[in-house]
Amino acid sequence: MTAERKGSLVIAGLGPGQETLVTPEVQDALAQATDVVGYIPYVKRVAPREGLTLHASDNRVEVDRATDALQMAAEGKQIVVVSSGDPGVFAMASAVFEALEAGPTEWLSLEIRVLPGITAMLAAAAAIGAPLGHDFAAINLSDNLKPWALIERRLQLVGEAGLAMAFYNPRSKSRPHQFARALEVLRQSCGTETLITFARDVTKPGQEILTVPLRDATPEMADMRTVVIVGNRDTRRVGSYVYTPRFAPGHKPG
Ligand code: SAH
Repeated sequence: MTAERKGSLVIAGLGPGQETLVTPEVQDALAQATDVVGYIPYVKRVAPREGLTLHASDNRVEVDRATDALQMAAEGKQIVVVSSGDPGVFAMASAVFEALEAGPTEWLSLEIRVLPGITAMLAAAAAIGAPLGHDFAAINLSDNLKPWALIERRLQLVGEAGLAMAFYNPRSKSRPHQFARALEVLRQSCGTETLITFARDVTKPGQEILTVPLRDATPEMADMRTVVIVGNRDTRRVGSYVYTPRFAPGHKPG
């Protein structure tokens, strides 16, 4: 199908929730879109207007959704695929490139841009101080896309390596026991005094943040609206803040 205007596809991050944390670049892309594509709760965050079609779909259909978006861009539409936070962090950007790789070669000539957003762990870290101020790893605790045994192994090794960690998708109703096991592994690999922060609905109304030592952490403290941050062994409180020194645990800057 030929179109007068060349189609384009933008994969945009909407940030953690607060309106003022949507970047001007993402706002511009949404203002120019003909179609917005995404998971239902994220598409709900886009204001409807004349000339804009909203395509909301359920979870777990990421590659189908990405394929539809690429197809519509190939037909000449201005597509914005929305993710929460940053689109490259456990979100739609990789799904679009997977669909691009599997799709017709003509799609390679489409203009595709990824627009960053503020990811949940950075918004949560900022809300409590600077718990990710030294080296850290971001880990998705969902076993949809990898086996649980691999997740446990990574928790073990990253803890032993002394990195702080941020966990996405920590605990869902369909896998209630795994997060309890994750806490056991972390107590072994990081020690029971390491601080863990549960940050729920960060920057949204009803934001809740709780920091405890791993010894006192319970599985019920996390759900799918929570991002979890585990410090390294030097992560500490100062007043009401939590921070991780910039130097390696035990290392005194010279
Ligand atoms: N692309 C998103 C992450 C999508 S995975 C980003 O960059 O933030 C979905 C997970 O992100 C949730 O299960 C939760 O762990 C985390 N998350 C997203 N928004 C959040 C918020 N406002 N507060 C707390 N956690 C959030």
